[in-house]
Amino acid sequence: MTKYIFVTGGVTSSLGKGIISASLAKLLQARGYRVTIQKFDPYINIDPGTLNPYEHGECYVTEDGAETDLDLGHYERFLNVPTSQANNITTGRIYQNVINKEREGAYLGKTVQVVPHITDEIKRNMVLLGQGDDFDIVITELGGTVGDIESLPFIEAVRQLRWELGSSNSLVIHLTLVPFLAAAGELKTKPTQHSVKMLLEYGIQPDILVCRTEHHLSADIRRKVALFCNVNINAVIESIDASTIYDVPLMMLKEQLDKTVLSKLKLPLKSDPNLENWKNFLGRLKNPTSEIKIGLVGKYVELPDAYKSITEAFIHAGASNECKVKVVSIHSESITTENVAERLSGLDGVLVAPGFGSRGIEGKIIAIQHVRENNIPFFGICLGMQCAVVEFARNVLGLKDANSSEMDENTPDPVISMMEEQKKIKNKGGTMRLGSYICDLKKGSKAYNIYGKSQITERHRHRYEFNNEYLKQFEEAGMIASGINPDNGLVEIVELKNHPFFVAGQFHPELKSTVANPHPLFVNFVAASLANSRKNNKK
Ligand code: GLN
Repeated sequence: MTKYIFVTGGVTSSLGKGIISASLAKLLQARGYRVTIQKFDPYINIDPGTLNPYEHGECYVTEDGAETDLDLGHYERFLNVPTSQANNITTGRIYQNVINKEREGAYLGKTVQVVPHITDEIKRNMVLLGQGDDFDIVITELGGTVGDIESLPFIEAVRQLRWELGSSNSLVIHLTLVPFLAAAGELKTKPTQHSVKMLLEYGIQPDILVCRTEHHLSADIRRKVALFCNVNINAVIESIDASTIYDVPLMMLKEQLDKTVLSKLKLPLKSDPNLENWKNFLGRLKNPTSEIKIGLVGKYVELPDAYKSITEAFIHAGASNECKVKVVSIHSESITTENVAERLSGLDGVLVAPGFGSRGIEGKIIAIQHVRENNIPFFGICLGMQCAVVEFARNVLGLKDANSSEMDENTPDPVISMMEEQKKIKNKGGTMRLGSYICDLKKGSKAYNIYGKSQITERHRHRYEFNNEYLKQFEEAGMIASGINPDNGLVEIVELKNHPFFVAGQFHPELKSTVANPHPLFVNFVAASLANSRKNNKK
């Protein structure tokens, strides 16, 4: 029978529930269990696809084309197992399902209510992934903080499920904060006590407390937390601030979180966790032999979470090159023809980021012209590729007013334009080209050599495409389409022939980079930037 672990958060948000869930999952996976993680978010949007990155950070896209919370990115990066639509559920989706059923007449004669109808729908979704034979353990992370009005139905659903499943088939891990009061020189347990008390009011006794802290928890503090929160002393787990999120699984191993969980779930320990590859990765990450600076040109740079998967993919690619990658955020709106050389000076490579709308677009195009003309390694992702195409059209093909029709509907040369199927669509949610598509690589191209195979799949999230009416002109001038979707002929990768590294993709490679499988495009871009840095240092 599948076992269920629920992870709640108390005291404050941003304690790192996603990383704790992913770390625990990693340890259980390393012991030989099949684990998945799902996230339940208490907001009314059907999915985060319609949220601005400033509101919610990056929108992570799964293989099956779901637009999801960025925590799913952590789950995939840690576990190296794909997630799907079923792994991210919001209040909006729950209500939508219930309201659709009501219209179909599924509840005829009944008053439809939060309890039991909404809570039943939440429970149905919580156990869905555990019903096949795919997973031994399903970890459910509840978004928000205990005590929030909007998370109440989720907490009630967990309470009911625990009763239905029985105590050895489910458990609750509560993540709290143990703050350090500098004036008193002490760690304080009261916020944790209050937060557990609030959970108890809702009928949930947590089994394990993971305490986020800046200082080690003494035996006394652990005893105090255990006593006042009704948990075993070995169920008080310290989660001290880490220098990298990739340290957290080993920290949790040291705290024996996996052992405590397995014993409460009455599951055997199986083997000792096999974390050899993970430790090798950490060794390379922490002992770089070189350092490079990569410029990340985007418009959401104030919020690091907006480009989460990109910065994580650089960590994986850096470790694989034994090179520390310093990502320097550059606001595309701040780049002009006059200052571009100065703004990009000292960078070994430049990545132009994905995005929507016209703000900052000209700065991206100017940056790309600069790196193209100065042989600086360039990597474009989605909008970054579209900007590279517009730049080439304007400055190499001489199509002075070329543009993407997203930015200028009346451009005489729409080198990037909307797909026909997209033009009919009026709704905004979940209607882009989303999820995994296949792409054939041209033999002998840089992309082909990097991937080392002739067919790949990558994930998409966009409405606009390279306009194939211009393809011949581009290829004759040296920008080739090295990746093409064989089903519809869409251009998925462009690259320059006479440049050390100028590669751009219409898809999002960052979404598939994991600790176990750093993405080859990132690995090679870092290698090219490192070569560029060495060349410049010799000068
Ligand atoms: N705005 C562009 C499009 O919709 C690019 C999207 C992106 O970068 N994800 O096609």
